[in-house]
Amino acid sequence: MIVVMENGASKDMVKRVLGRIEELGFEAHLSEGEVKTIIGVIGEGKMELKDSFAILPGVEDVVEITKPYKLSGKQFKSGRSVIEIDDVKVGGDNFTIMAGPCAIESKEQLLQAAQQVKDGGAQILRGGAFKPRTSPYSFQGLEKNGLKMLAEAREETGLKVVTEVMDTRDVGLVAEYADILQVGARNMQNYPLLREVGQTNRPVLLKRAMTATYKEFLMAAEYIMAGGNHDVILCERGIRTFVDQTRNTVDLTVVPVIRELSHLPIIIDPSHGTGKWKYVTPLAKAALAVGADGLMIEVHPDPTNALCDGPQSLRPDKFKSLVEQMKPIAEAVNRSL
Ligand code: PEP
Ligand code: MN
Repeated sequence: MIVVMENGASKDMVKRVLGRIEELGFEAHLSEGEVKTIIGVIGEGKMELKDSFAILPGVEDVVEITKPYKLSGKQFKSGRSVIEIDDVKVGGDNFTIMAGPCAIESKEQLLQAAQQVKDGGAQILRGGAFKPRTSPYSFQGLEKNGLKMLAEAREETGLKVVTEVMDTRDVGLVAEYADILQVGARNMQNYPLLREVGQTNRPVLLKRAMTATYKEFLMAAEYIMAGGNHDVILCERGIRTFVDQTRNTVDLTVVPVIRELSHLPIIIDPSHGTGKWKYVTPLAKAALAVGADGLMIEVHPDPTNALCDGPQSLRPDKFKSLVEQMKPIAEAVNRSL
């Protein structure tokens, strides 16, 4: 961390900063320029004390110089992480497609959807057993019974399965059934939950909160990784903006930025991102072109009768056509689909 003094800060002001640094048990490194004086603060755990320096007279700014992404950052690992769930890989040169209904509604619905997304080209089946709904009166999910159906669908199709866990108390249960634990957008900053999934040996699909900065997004991943679980897949699912034509705004800029900052794979969810099935395919193509590592797409055998997120769910034939349309793009950007 560097303390930048205001132009013309007095010697006394500089002395006071140096004194405070010493008082707090850090080492100071003073550099007096013609116009500016800057003071390096050396030692562990100093960022928490940023404000103790920022309030001193004559201090213009306190700047962080080491990146806070200890485990998710490029400093920790220079290559790109590939997360392996047996033979299914996420990251690297792979482009991985997760698809399925928003919610698991019945055994028939899930098994049908599973077969359909498999035929269409997905490697991973999605489906919520615990649903974070805006209204407590909406369908909340089949919970444990839903998890059992998910395991059955995996058995039948050979697809891997991803499902959301919302509560720390359910992490053990969901981890028994799921290949990948999903942490939803609304829980991206639920620190106890992040810590709990960080204790499991299951990869975690971490969705970006609709208000999160890139830093907050990576710091949430950091919580999971700090517990020892380094298998984190990031997922951009749209943020809230002033655009009211779509449910959210898919921020594709996140892909090159995260690529620069982190080694973790990042996928795009254009279903929640747009809220309308019509826009899912164009955004999916853009996601591949911009360098994302995969997609999460909502597909329902009968979207008009879906219990959750029907308007953004693709019919199975549309999903199949989406995957077909991705192929030339995958070839152009050297990704295996
Ligand atoms: C979901 O994937 O079904 C879901 C609820 O997503 P999000 O957390 O992104 O809203
Ligand atoms: Mn949904």
